[in-house]
Amino acid sequence: MRIGILGDVHSNLEALTAVVAAMREDKVEHWVQVGDIVGYGPDPCACIDIIRELGATVCMGNHDAAVVGSLETDYFNTYARMAIEWTRTQLRRSDLEYLGSLPYTVVRPDLEYTVVHGSLHMPKQFGYVLTMVEAIESMRHQETLACFVGHSHVPAVYMVPEDEHGMRAVHTPPFELNIGDASRVLVNVGSVGQPRDENRNAAYALFDTSNHELQIKRVPYDIPKVQAKIRAAGLPGVLADRLAIGL
Ligand code: ZN
Repeated sequence: MRIGILGDVHSNLEALTAVVAAMREDKVEHWVQVGDIVGYGPDPCACIDIIRELGATVCMGNHDAAVVGSLETDYFNTYARMAIEWTRTQLRRSDLEYLGSLPYTVVRPDLEYTVVHGSLHMPKQFGYVLTMVEAIESMRHQETLACFVGHSHVPAVYMVPEDEHGMRAVHTPPFELNIGDASRVLVNVGSVGQPRDENRNAAYALFDTSNHELQIKRVPYDIPKVQAKIRAAGLPGVLADRLAIGL
């Protein structure tokens, strides 16, 4: 099965459209979304529609949770909070019901993966996995070969070998790995709509269960168009500026 994993879309329709087109060319058969469909960007409803049409396995992100009132907005910085409040004014009742229904984790033993937005260690707290220790904390709760996460918007792969001794972390491209020899692998798939690894191109991952090949790929998209929409919506200008530098 060719699994396509995307996440942290953040209401960026142009990035999402480019990523979905690339994933269709990659012959993706099963879609996974690691949370944060909304927040920051100008097209929350259209992005929700696309994710729902894909029939993706989806988990709850912290921005999704905040928009539906399941997470206090004190948690967020000013710009994120302003975007969450703006997003609430845009969503349809069906969007709120959909976001409110999302699970915090999904485990698919048949397809060898788990999905959570931040960490399997207290998923509702939305902790980050940025270090080996944080990866170990999450992996203690991981029962499948792979776990896909987002949240930091920075691609990374943490692999525990079959003998359970040590860990290998990959933080720089190329992200092209065979994970068949590992006992567990934690994969941050990067962000579709607001990459923060100084690469402005939208990110997504592919995982093939037939040969255990894992890749994280990048796709360019029309950034000036999204920036113009962010400014026209009255969202904070910094949310437009950062897209051009990938931060
Ligand atoms: Zn996010």
